Amino acid sequence: MRVHEIRLPQDIVVGSGTLNLIGQVCKKLGIHDSAVIVTGPKVKGIAGNRVKEILEESNMNATIHVSAESSIAEAERVRDLIREVKAKVVIGVGGGKSIDIAKLSAFKEGIPFISVPTAASHDGIASPRASLKGLNRPTSMSANPPVAIIADIDLIMKAPYRLLASGCGDIIAKFTAVRDWRLAHKLRGEYYGDYAASLAILSANLVVKHAEYISRRMPESLRTVVEALISCGIAMCIAGSSRPCSGSEHLFSHALDLIAKKPALHGEQCGVGTIMMMYLHGGKWRNIRKTLKLIGAPTTAKELGVSDYEVIKALTIAHKIRPERYTILGESGLSWEAAERVARITGVIE
Ligand code: ZN
Repeated sequence: MRVHEIRLPQDIVVGSGTLNLIGQVCKKLGIHDSAVIVTGPKVKGIAGNRVKEILEESNMNATIHVSAESSIAEAERVRDLIREVKAKVVIGVGGGKSIDIAKLSAFKEGIPFISVPTAASHDGIASPRASLKGLNRPTSMSANPPVAIIADIDLIMKAPYRLLASGCGDIIAKFTAVRDWRLAHKLRGEYYGDYAASLAILSANLVVKHAEYISRRMPESLRTVVEALISCGIAMCIAGSSRPCSGSEHLFSHALDLIAKKPALHGEQCGVGTIMMMYLHGGKWRNIRKTLKLIGAPTTAKELGVSDYEVIKALTIAHKIRPERYTILGESGLSWEAAERVARITGVIE
């Protein structure tokens, strides 16, 4: 039997005021001395400075790196800083960008990375993969999962609701991602892990079940979404790839990122992609649309802020984004007519 190695986060702390525990968490994990904190210009004032203070209270040196762009070049700059201050850990404090830069730079330097999400907008907060821009296009790279995830609900609650709704779109995407994975297993003999697939589907089902509470912005539902996103990250750790969490709907989102004048948020695009890919899979796409509508996530091109042309174009090139990732789009993808039809039938375009 093929050897399958699973690397998982050691410590997951979710709740009110958990940010204050970061010093203790480092101690528990045997991390001392020096840390690099990667954060964004806005989040620095909201949480980055606070993390530095808490670490210093725990007798650690902490250096803040403010990153404005999510690129591989930025991760390289953080690597230089890690070596300069002899950091023993990198802490990503923020939404997507800071976490991915921290994840990749820590991985390349062979030191642990701690994830401190300030929004529940996508599953990268706990995954072993980093999505960064390099050579003008988004690339997804293998890295280590965070050694710890510290999700402070008080902090995440302050983020705009749009980010949370986007996170729900990224979770709903697991319905079609898992179908694509099964298809690749059946048609291509690709490795398929039932446990990882079930975990991803469990998260998606939780979002469906809690959709109404989420739309009413109840604090407990926020916790559910955060935990579901972390579970999706764990599903990827168990699978050893992003397969349980990323299928044709993600390819559509990546394609839209490449061609749209003004792309929407990752999870928003994945949610709309899930409606259309579920139609192609012959599944209950109307239920997907209903859940997204209830949550207040976009379900149409107009709501995404992209043109009908961009949606159709993205559908026709999605299969080329990661040719090795077999999905319902097949090897040759959708023709213009087929793409237009699926977008029209599902109400994504008018
Ligand atoms: Zn995603």
